[in-house]
Order: sequence, then structure tokens, then C-alpha cells
Amino acid sequence: MIKEIDTNHGKIKTPAFMPDATYGSIKSISFTDAFNSGIREIVTTTLHLEQKIGSLNIKEMGGIHKFMGWQRPVLSDSGGWQVFSLINAQKGSKNFITEAGCSFIDSKTGKQTFLSPENSIDIQLNLDSDILTALDNPIGASESLKLRKESIKLNTIWAERAIKRFKEQSSTKNKKILGGVIQGAGDFELRKTSALELLEMDFDIYNFGGIPMYYGESWKSEKEYRLFHEMLVFLAKLIPANKFKYAMGVGQPKDIAFCVDTGWDLFDTVLPTRNARHGLLYVSSPEGEEEIKYTGSGELKNSIFTYGVQHLKSLRYKMDSKPVDSNCSCECCKTVSRAYLRNLLRLNEPAGFRLATIHNLTFYTSWMKLLRNSLLEVQK
Ligand SMILES: [Zn+2]
Repeated sequence: MIKEIDTNHGKIKTPAFMPDATYGSIKSISFTDAFNSGIREIVTTTLHLEQKIGSLNIKEMGGIHKFMGWQRPVLSDSGGWQVFSLINAQKGSKNFITEAGCSFIDSKTGKQTFLSPENSIDIQLNLDSDILTALDNPIGASESLKLRKESIKLNTIWAERAIKRFKEQSSTKNKKILGGVIQGAGDFELRKTSALELLEMDFDIYNFGGIPMYYGESWKSEKEYRLFHEMLVFLAKLIPANKFKYAMGVGQPKDIAFCVDTGWDLFDTVLPTRNARHGLLYVSSPEGEEEIKYTGSGELKNSIFTYGVQHLKSLRYKMDSKPVDSNCSCECCKTVSRAYLRNLLRLNEPAGFRLATIHNLTFYTSWMKLLRNSLLEVQK
């Protein structure tokens, strides 16, 4: 469904894709490049900004929008991904977790940063992001049922503490928005428990904590990939229509189409930017190496979407004088050939990273536009 999220820095038209600006920057491009690629909202990483720059310093510099030179909506994550990747998935790590919160040691500087549900909110308020996220506790699907149950219990306790702090600290005039993260890995019962407990707290947005189900582009098996889709359908039905649904970390264009078809509103992923740097370009289907297709069966009723990819570093593009995608009007496609971009990427030239990133983000924003237009057609 087409919806709007009204923030202090403009409205987000959903379904919307937000690229990751982990350290307050989208890798390889400027925010002007991002805007010209159609990007209107971004995600940033609370723990890394706190560790590397300091949220109080950013506050003193006028907040994250002024500091970065980006006047559109900013969503900050909670630190939950790092709870998974740096603590729960790394046995024997110096980082640790207790009911109070979690401690992270910066591997380069040795500096300790403590994140609790309360100070994760405080840090995000210091940053002055528009959409905040409650600290969550994702755990691996392979852990024992006992540990997984305990992690969900703690996830709920943290969500309660986060929303309490958010309500105490945000003024009623301030249009700040808070998301709560549903966890439970690949277990439907645990996901349901997590969702129902969080629904009682009345968050504005309900986030699908895809990790540790979703690792990006490669799946261990078809079965795992199917489970991921089934879980998205299952959770979308549990979350009421008046709440926004955010599928964190999703994903490939066809997975975003699937999510929109099942009612999800918000997406973020590093795929277009990271893949650009590795030479994987998303293109309209006639220009790709093979056609990837998605046919709507829910909200996107029978609409058909196709695209392709190019592995631009491969030999087949060595003497290819065509633009990456003749149907694209981004700076990359208007100015350079596949052969030239291939060379820039093979030589790790920053200009190549920039042009490829601009192209992939332009592709993603066009893809979202196609999905929104299709929803509008269906809604008519
Ligand atoms: Zn392009």
C-alpha cells in the first residue's frame, strides 16, 4: 500500500528504499550524488557514529543532518546488528552482553562503548535522527531453543525500556518516530511471541530483524530462502495496517518486490552500493546477462517486473562501447562505456566506484518507483 511517513525532514513515500550511510557517509559518493540518483532517505549506524565520532560532538555540530549536509529523513539503527555480529555470533569476543546492555571494544582504539536500551535512544536523540530504533537482541538460528527463548525475552525487556526512554525524552511537539525490532530467527512461534509482545507497546514502525535469517545475496539453501519469505508473509499478517513495516536488510530487487507484494513498506540494504564496488551492476532486463523476473500475486496483483545484472569485470565487456544501461539516464550511463567502467573497477579507481554506485542507486530508486506506480494502478 502507498503510505507516507511524515518526519521533521520531509515525507517518506513508501514503499521506500534507504541506502546505508554507516559512518555518516554512503560509500564512494556524496549526498548530492545520492540525491541526484533519486535517494530521499538514508539509514545510519548508531554504534559506529558513537564509537568513531561521538554523538555529543555531532549534537554540538548541529545534529546529523547539518553535520553530513543532508536535509532529508535519516533513520538510525539501534546497534542490534552489532549485538549479533560482534557479540552473539562471535564466541570468545571481548564484547559482552548482560541484561543491562552490551559492551563493545573498538578493535583499533581499544575504546569501550556501552549500549543500553536507554542510552541507544539518548545517542540517537543526540544525533537528531528522524526515525529511531529500539535496541534489539538478535541471536543465531543454530543456538539452543533455551538460548533463543532467553534472547527473545531480553529483546522484549529492552524494547519496553527503549520506548519508555523515548517517551520521556521526546517532546510531544517533536515528530520523532520509533521502530521496534521483531526477532526470533527462523522460528515462527518465537517470532509470533516477539511480535505480539512488541505490538502491545505500540511502536510506530515494526521492523523485521532479518538477521540472522538473511545474510545478503547468498543463501545456504533454497529451503532457507523459502523460510525467509514465509516468515515475511507470516509477520506482515500479524502487524496491523496502520503501522509501518520495515524489512531490515532486504535486499535484492526481486526480494523487495516480494516484500512490497506482501505489504512491507521500508527497506535498507548495502547490496547496490557494495555490489557496485565489486562490479555487479543492476540493469533493465534486455541489458542484463539473464532475465530475473517477479510476478505479483498480492498487493502487486499480476504485475510483472524484470531486471538483469552485469558482472562488469568479466572479459565479455572488455571492448563493449555501450553504456551500462541504455535505458538509464544516470551520470554513469550518460558519460562512460561498459569497457571504460570495467577498467576503472578492475584498477580500483575511486571514480569507478562512484559511477557504479550512482548507477546502482539510480536503478534501485527507479525500481521503487515502478513498484509504487504499480501499487497505485492496483489501488485505482
Ligand atoms: Zn545508469
